[in-house]
Amino acid sequence: MDTLRFIDEELEGLREAGLYNEIRVLEGAQGAWVRIGGRKALNLCSNNYLGLASDRRLVEAARRAAEEYGVGPGAVRTIAGTMTIHKELERKLAAFKRTEATLVFQSGFNANLATIPALVGKGDTIYSDALNHASIIDGCRLSRAEIKVYEHNDPDSLEKLLRQEVPGRKLIVTDGVFSMDGDIAPLPEIVELAERYGAMVMVDDAHGEGVLGSHGRGIVDHFHLHGRVDVEVGTLSKALGCVGGFVAGSARLVEYLEQRARPFLFSTGLTPPDVAANIATVEILEASDELVQRLWENARHFKTKLGELGFDTGKSQTPITPVIIGEAARAAEFSRRLFERDVFAQSIGFPTVPRGTARIRVMISAIHSREDLDFAVEAFRAVGEEMGIL
Ligand SMILES: *Cc1c(COP(=O)(O)O)cnc(C)c1O
Repeated sequence: MDTLRFIDEELEGLREAGLYNEIRVLEGAQGAWVRIGGRKALNLCSNNYLGLASDRRLVEAARRAAEEYGVGPGAVRTIAGTMTIHKELERKLAAFKRTEATLVFQSGFNANLATIPALVGKGDTIYSDALNHASIIDGCRLSRAEIKVYEHNDPDSLEKLLRQEVPGRKLIVTDGVFSMDGDIAPLPEIVELAERYGAMVMVDDAHGEGVLGSHGRGIVDHFHLHGRVDVEVGTLSKALGCVGGFVAGSARLVEYLEQRARPFLFSTGLTPPDVAANIATVEILEASDELVQRLWENARHFKTKLGELGFDTGKSQTPITPVIIGEAARAAEFSRRLFERDVFAQSIGFPTVPRGTARIRVMISAIHSREDLDFAVEAFRAVGEEMGIL
């Protein structure tokens, strides 16, 4: 009996529904341009907002760390895998984030799986935005707390739920920047509700780190909420250019997570080259706001140009630029035609976004030149006209 036959059926179903994801392979480093299938294409897909993923300063820091510390940490951090550079990264990151302490994980996904079940459990209640990231949803499920979902970015909907009496601890959790629309959580209102109803607040700022706030310090800095957000989760894998996740908050929060967070206790930590590259990033951001400023200038330029052409770029407040096309098949066709014009920009459809709002999700970076952006605008114009969208 072929016990894995269901896999063929599942895959066939995905292909028939047009939901099968063809994964493109890059033949070299991340950058403004990438090589795919032997061709150079303008890269509008990566979360490498500041271009740090192949920055020579990070590469050099990683190389030096490999020579001094090797490439593997050797054990989970609680047993023998915490090196001086792990502590240095956590210290520098805390200073950058303006929190008492930070704890670094293998990824942002792991940071959520680690943190939520440590904060709440059976008998407690989580209040979760309807569009929260998959890693938050999975962290909530792992915790076995009751999950109440409020309407996206809607403090009234959240308050309605908070008014219902519940036993145990309460945790409000939200993305900082929502990755498909580029809108920002109403954190000041959420914090006020949390204070009024005695709930903890956790914000996952994966798309805000290196993007929002002074020098890219993130959403808490953007809204001047330092000291009023209990838990900030961040990623080192997007704007910060390397890989990893972290929690920033009070010293007691970090001390507690070191004892209780399961991905910290049972999975090996970041490698020395990763850690060193992350330290280099934090030093670069601490020293200069220039890359962050350039990112925003590029985003404004691109959005303005696309708007002038008549494209619908949604309600984005950040460099994430959705170009709404409508039906998923049309968005996929739009993406294919862009690629024929050497522009690599992925289409995103249901169920990741609601039906009828399929889009090209454009990720602007600080390392795109003006010429790159205008090249992309021209490709969007040409394909938009070809397909009768403009
Ligand atoms: C990308 C993302 C993550 C995952 O971060 P990784 O470091 O890639 O694991 C977590 N949360 C949100 C909101 C994200 O957008």
